[in-house]
Amino acid sequence: MDQRRAARREDRAPICPSCGVTALPGDAVGIDAAFACDNADCPAFGEPVGDDTAA
Ligand SMILES: [Zn+2]
Repeated sequence: MDQRRAARREDRAPICPSCGVTALPGDAVGIDAAFACDNADCPAFGEPVGDDTAA
């Protein structure tokens, strides 16, 4: 049951264009954006990912 929930969340999450890692919700990263990169090795780490952010 938890698996179904996680899959749906992943389905909505964008992929970071810099590192290809699935972005995390901004809430989880602590920034004011829908999604952000959570790969510490990525140059875009902590930056908004996806086109949902620039409104
Ligand atoms: Zn990244």
